[in-house]
Amino acid sequence: TSPVDPWPTPDERAADATLRPGTLSEFEGQPRVVDQLGLVLEAARHRGHTPDHVLLSGPPGLGKTTLAMIIATEMGAPLRITSGPAIQHAGDLAAILSGLTEGEVLFLDEIHRMSRPAEEMLYLAMEDFRVDVVVGKGPGATAIPIEIPPFTLVGATTRAGLLPGPLRDRFGFTAQLDFYEAADLERIVVRSAARLGIEVDDASAAEIARRSRGTPRIANRLLRRVRDYAQVHNGGAVTLELSRGALELYEVDPLGLDRLDRAVLEAICRKFGGGPVGVSTLAISVGEETETIEEVAEPFLVRLGFIMRTPRGRIATPAGWRHIGLVPPDRSGG
Ligand code: ATP
Repeated sequence: TSPVDPWPTPDERAADATLRPGTLSEFEGQPRVVDQLGLVLEAARHRGHTPDHVLLSGPPGLGKTTLAMIIATEMGAPLRITSGPAIQHAGDLAAILSGLTEGEVLFLDEIHRMSRPAEEMLYLAMEDFRVDVVVGKGPGATAIPIEIPPFTLVGATTRAGLLPGPLRDRFGFTAQLDFYEAADLERIVVRSAARLGIEVDDASAAEIARRSRGTPRIANRLLRRVRDYAQVHNGGAVTLELSRGALELYEVDPLGLDRLDRAVLEAICRKFGGGPVGVSTLAISVGEETETIEEVAEPFLVRLGFIMRTPRGRIATPAGWRHIGLVPPDRSGG
């Protein structure tokens, strides 16, 4: 994987246990989401009910899994984790739902990738806490309703827009996670360093944070790469100079753009004259999946103000042109 790939490596999945904030108050950044979610949980505790279903959306690596775990912890409830692609048949979902205990939190990652029949089963479960299990085939088939205990569904998706309206409407609370501010990432780096026993000075932590694409998962990864580099070059102590050296080695630029981000920006400017260019054409020209462009590179480039989405396609902004060292074309008319 590239050091700025926001998806976790198997090693990281294992290390997550030590790095994840355990409660809402330890969760850095996303103040609006934290406040709103805190209120939802608090109110549920007051009423002695399970909280409303929660939908978390945003690019990968921003803390959706972490928040699902926090919800369960804060409610003192068990957590069950599954994902859209793991649910091939409605029967798979029926088995999960009917095995839930009262108050359990069900985390459904990549909820937009669930099959249609499973999705319909989920509507009913979310609304009426019931599943209809179909027995038999053809005209003789009958649906047997099974009651399931009240539970909280926490759905995660990289793009809420891909969810069918009826599914989206069944969530009582939707949180849109955004890229993190550098100051928040800096606190995450400092905290992770302490937990991993890595010594970093403030300047290095700030540098790693600045180059982490607004993404905690990447901040944690870059911290580890910088540690490796410092071990080899300096016996372990992390300095600003070494941090910069490591980050350059891994092709992370000063604003955190990685190779794919830059490839997308370069393609729009150099191959397509600044756009507009359709996302699938763009994907082919940089040799990536359309999904990866839309879910990973594009949101970050839009956030930095380097590209814009228009109905006719993606266009590079003057700031985008300048970032890769080109002079933006004069579009003042004339
Ligand atoms: P994916 O969609 O790929 O599952 P995600 O958005 O669910 O990613 P998490 O796995 O929750 O992301 O978080 C990635 C890592 O970043 C975790 O190891 C966690 O330690 C760290 N992290 C995420 N959010 C925060 C935060 N707000 N404060 C501190 N650490 C965080």
